[in-house]
Amino acid sequence: MSTPIHQPSYSTRPTLRVDLQQIRANYDALKARVGAAKIGASVKADAYGLGAVAVGKALYGAGCRIFFVATAGEGKILRDGVGPNAAIYVLNGPAPRDKGVLLGAKLKPVINSMEQAEFWGSVAREVKEPPYTAIHIDTGMNRLGLTPDGVKAISRDKSLWAALNPEWVMSHLACAPDASNPMNKTQLQRFRQSAAQLPLTPLSLANTAGIYLGKPYHFQMVRPGIGLYGGVATTKPEQEVSKPAATLLAPILQVRYVKAGETLGYNGTYVAPRDMRIAVVGAGYADGIPVNQSNRGTAILHDEEVNIVGRVSMDLTMIDATDANLTVEVGGVVVFRGEHLEAEAKSAQTINYELLVRLGQRCRRDYWKPKKDAPDAPKKDFRKR
Ligand SMILES: *Cc1c(COP(=O)(O)O)cnc(C)c1O
Repeated sequence: MSTPIHQPSYSTRPTLRVDLQQIRANYDALKARVGAAKIGASVKADAYGLGAVAVGKALYGAGCRIFFVATAGEGKILRDGVGPNAAIYVLNGPAPRDKGVLLGAKLKPVINSMEQAEFWGSVAREVKEPPYTAIHIDTGMNRLGLTPDGVKAISRDKSLWAALNPEWVMSHLACAPDASNPMNKTQLQRFRQSAAQLPLTPLSLANTAGIYLGKPYHFQMVRPGIGLYGGVATTKPEQEVSKPAATLLAPILQVRYVKAGETLGYNGTYVAPRDMRIAVVGAGYADGIPVNQSNRGTAILHDEEVNIVGRVSMDLTMIDATDANLTVEVGGVVVFRGEHLEAEAKSAQTINYELLVRLGQRCRRDYWKPKKDAPDAPKKDFRKR
């Protein structure tokens, strides 16, 4: 995704540019890696902050018919976007309060515990056409999922199994980013053993990182999330097939010159070591730039890395543009995330997932479909909105 240098008509609000074409390309690339296995796209948390409806529609257009969200509410929103023919699974499972939404939006609950199994079993027995479910078994994550005792119990209760009508048996990998971690093989073995106790049902184990563990981990469906959005999923990025699809563009609202010895921002945490040129940009921690990036993080200005100076504030961040080579002017943009995502995550001592989902609701979302546009279309795009 190329970076615009300035916006002819700009707003004080940051823009989250989501390249839907790239998300589709990432879907295709992951699909090519898994052969006959289906892809169930993880679009929980508003598609990792990028917009579940727009992303869901783009993936649906690419052929995706299975989606995973975390909650019933997310499922309902996605249903309105992708229409009646997509299977939408709710990872956190069924809860009494969500019954109406689950049934109304035809969502398929993932059954994570015997409590959920019994609750949903009773619901399924009393409604006409209960949705299919997925049975989630724990193989070492020790988060959600049936325990070995739960697997035994559900395998013996034929009537409950029939009421739940499971379409998939799934589990989740704890250590997949590192292929050399022995936990992966342990989980694979436990998954096979548990599945063998249950009625024959299609299986799913791998998230994005799991895809790179190879064919034995693919089974009949994989469930990528981060890889669709272009975040690095494994300790070996060079093996990965997807590319960044989301960029945060922060408008330069003011360019100012400060003298050596002056301080910048709240609490005066930055003291200018020399005369400096500062770009004040319209994006702050409310837009997902972590406060811990104060005086520490970096961003991109004209394809050059520049430093964040002073404390990141709610709506604004200050950038040291003293040495930037090209013109720095009001209406220009400073770029976060995108290709820079992994560096930002490292600097913020967090993971790329968190930086994506933190992008916040305030950004103007620009869903970019470059192929349909003329070569200079990005600028025109900016003017339109
Ligand atoms: C979030 C999630 C995924 C997707 O994981 P990625 O690492 O983003 O590919 C898959 N399965 C389950 C159960 C999840 O919670």
